[in-house]
Amino acid sequence: METPGSQSSLHRANLERVVRAVRLAGSLTQAEIARTTGLSAATVSNIVRELKDGGTVEVTPTSAGGRRARSVSLSGDAGIVIGVDFGHTHLRVAIGNLAHQVLAEEAEPLDVDASAAQGFDRAEELVERLVAATGVDRTKVAGVGLGVPGPIDVESGTLGSTSILPGWTGTKPAEEMSRRLGVPVHVDNDANLGALGELVWGSGRGVKDLAYIKVASGVGAGLVIDGKIYRGPGGTAGEIGHITLDESGPVCRCGNRGCLETFTAARYVLPLLESSHGTGLTMESVVRLARDGDPGCRRVIADVGRHIGSGVANLCNLLNPSRVVLGGDLAEAGELVLGPIRESVGRYAIPSAARQLSVLPGALGGRAEVLGALALALSEMGDSTLLDGSLAVAAPAFT
Ligand SMILES: [Zn+2]
Repeated sequence: METPGSQSSLHRANLERVVRAVRLAGSLTQAEIARTTGLSAATVSNIVRELKDGGTVEVTPTSAGGRRARSVSLSGDAGIVIGVDFGHTHLRVAIGNLAHQVLAEEAEPLDVDASAAQGFDRAEELVERLVAATGVDRTKVAGVGLGVPGPIDVESGTLGSTSILPGWTGTKPAEEMSRRLGVPVHVDNDANLGALGELVWGSGRGVKDLAYIKVASGVGAGLVIDGKIYRGPGGTAGEIGHITLDESGPVCRCGNRGCLETFTAARYVLPLLESSHGTGLTMESVVRLARDGDPGCRRVIADVGRHIGSGVANLCNLLNPSRVVLGGDLAEAGELVLGPIRESVGRYAIPSAARQLSVLPGALGGRAEVLGALALALSEMGDSTLLDGSLAVAAPAFT
């Protein structure tokens, strides 16, 4: 038994700190590890050598700021994580290793009216097929991250009421998938996973405070505060779509009036174009027409941007994030929507908060959520198993 505070338990704690930092970032130089963990350069150097000798990490030469450096990542064959994303109309699965490399990824359409059981069946099939196709050792799966387009109760893991997938209300997606796959499964909503995906792989790299805004059938935000997703005690943090913009505005599905969502979500915005453009438009087609120069679509996209900007300004005043990343189809509109967002932020946020903010489009498009699910699985796995080698027994089975 190790005494807390003894040399060996301190050493073990330092090993875990370094492994955790590398696991969350994908790869770091030794200088970055020292900065992230607060350990001295000499300690980091010794620990990295020990982890490399033990096969837990790989070290490759790189350059940082024009100087030679050593990039440290977890060994690719040390373990596997799986991301599963249930979207509004699709199912997407990705297989990744602990070095943050995506080994396989596939999406298929999923009927929103299908039962939850059918969704779980399809996800199980796709996971098993991709695992088999990549040839990875099934015993090396460290965990699964699971994304659902609805509110998850943090305590019980139950999916709350959602107008998008009514047949799923009351199910426990993580419990169900864990029973089927026989590995730990961690679940979160699509906005939080989009935030994690962009933070680790996309437009949020290198920042610790970020808001990911996704405009689809609803409007949600994933909030990253000091490097971690902020969920709140009930898991409902980030409901930016229900900020009140106009007390006498349209009635929202939440029962209030003039919520941000009633000025930005597809079901409210598309009808504005019906008299001029006819029915059958989607947000995707409006964005495409706006990019092609259609004045009505440009106006609608700009108005949506200004309204999102009002919400973002409130967010800035409260949380002072350094970056806001816009995801979903709307991000494809680029400056047509980002410009008006920045304009509103400039008008409504306090200058000190607005000055530090950059507003960027998501870099991952429709992959943000499934990559975020991989990041969730990576962030939830413990380092003990990794350091004790129980995940690293078999030889690498994939190339
Ligand atoms: Zn509302």
